[in-house]
Amino acid sequence: MLPSLMQQPSMMISSIIEFAERWYPDVEIVSRTTEGPVHRYTYKQMGKRCRQLAQALPKLGIKQGDRVGTLAWNGYRHLELYYGVSGTGAVLHTINPRLFTEQMSFVINHASDKVLFIDITFLPILEGLQGQLDNVQHIVVMTDRSHMPDTTLDNVLCYEELIDAESSDYQWPEFDENAASSICYTSGTTGNPKGVVYSHRSTIIHALGSSTPNALALSATDCILLVVPQFHVNAWGVAYAGPMNGCKLVLPGPAMDGQSIHDLLEREQCTLSLAVPTIWMMLTAYLKDSNASLPYLKRVVIGGSAVPEAMIRSFELEYDVQVIHAWGMTEISPLGTVNMLLPQLQHLDYEAQMPTKLKQGRTVFGIDLRIVDDANNCLPHDGKAFGRLQVRGHWVTSAYLGEESSVDADGWFDTGDVATIDELGFMMITDRTKDVIKSGGEWISSIELENIAVGHPSVIEAAVIAAPHPKWDERPLLIVVSTPDSKTDAADLLDYISQRVAKWQVPDDVRFVDKLPHGATGKLNKLKLREDFKNYKFPDA
Ligand code: AMP
Repeated sequence: MLPSLMQQPSMMISSIIEFAERWYPDVEIVSRTTEGPVHRYTYKQMGKRCRQLAQALPKLGIKQGDRVGTLAWNGYRHLELYYGVSGTGAVLHTINPRLFTEQMSFVINHASDKVLFIDITFLPILEGLQGQLDNVQHIVVMTDRSHMPDTTLDNVLCYEELIDAESSDYQWPEFDENAASSICYTSGTTGNPKGVVYSHRSTIIHALGSSTPNALALSATDCILLVVPQFHVNAWGVAYAGPMNGCKLVLPGPAMDGQSIHDLLEREQCTLSLAVPTIWMMLTAYLKDSNASLPYLKRVVIGGSAVPEAMIRSFELEYDVQVIHAWGMTEISPLGTVNMLLPQLQHLDYEAQMPTKLKQGRTVFGIDLRIVDDANNCLPHDGKAFGRLQVRGHWVTSAYLGEESSVDADGWFDTGDVATIDELGFMMITDRTKDVIKSGGEWISSIELENIAVGHPSVIEAAVIAAPHPKWDERPLLIVVSTPDSKTDAADLLDYISQRVAKWQVPDDVRFVDKLPHGATGKLNKLKLREDFKNYKFPDA
């Protein structure tokens, strides 16, 4: 082999903020703060404060490799930690504040967090965890002195004072690009959450990959409203990809209701926004109620769970906003697939495109994807065969923190999702492995039935779970939250579904509930639903 003559600087997360500070100095980061007012500054100012923060960390006892936890909404100080902490060689652990108390102390202890940086609003959570955190030596409240709340906690510091005491005369160190940069825990719907440890290298390559035109197509003309939380896979990696592309960033803080989101979209003239379907449901409901429009928004990235057809139609046909349906997971940084129509689909009319638009999309360079049966045989790309979805690549985990390998001998990571892949490479999630309904030897997709059910005008939210059946092993049970003025009943809903799927896939019964249980990342908690309905018996069984 002939050695190349190319330079090999380490891929460092600090290089992103250095780049943004130098080449996009005047581009703004706008944040709605927990203190109330909207804060705005530029990449130039942000870069300076990141270096001040980096100087402060050793004084809190933070060395390279040490873990620093955050408990915070999307905001500029939280973003400074992304660069200030990882840039020094310490490891940022973004904690999901919606975790149950026991899970929260579990992840803080499991990650061995030494210092926690928190928004004012989360102080009561930490007061409740007093005496349960093994390694935490300091808590830094991300505000200025005048907003510092009273607390029963010891060792509480003020973020602005910490930074103010430091100069910005700091040189980012260069070290091994494979060193850990940040940790995110999975939502832990079964058992304790598991830690995924990203590296500087994986983070940079993921940011490059997700910026490309077939992925999120980011550029300096974008103003991004980052609704997806920074504690959820680094805001889907856009906390890095945004500054890398000189994008203006708008960070909504704790206010996620339709009106607050619309307000920021309008005021800052955002062109792109990313969030899970639940958020978009709140926004579209607000738009309808208040007769508002979206004149600046060009595209929305929707992922985390399947995008309902009605949502795609509403954004694209009523508001002229392109929907980019994406699939990913914490373990893969998170980008896996993005739905971008290929040229041969673009000339089709809208209705003919819809079946493809509903899919989770095609893979991007950097991620290898396959579906396999129970014996690990690869399944064909015919859009029909469905099997376990496996991935490998530059930004896929090889093991959870503190655990043995989580991939097979060839590096394939089993996602726990069940999917089809069609002739054009479009992947479609049909279920989670544990949620699929196994009826008489056939598999029925719970997600497909849920998507159809929410298309009914009287259905707000729907879940389908497997309930035991003496003849078929399992049969689908539909559980529905209906609109307050709904006149629909089980027969009407089942009739609606039976016009859209094969007869044997139609659920055997419907239950109406006031609300459905959700986990810490907003996904339906089917484990809890199965528990709630464990004594359910079908009328004919
Ligand atoms: P998380 O690690 O919390 O981001 O959850 C990842 C899981 O969310 C995936 O394994 C899928 O089951 C689900 N998911 C993510 N995006 C989508 C999508 N676009 N459609 C359906 N399910 C999705």
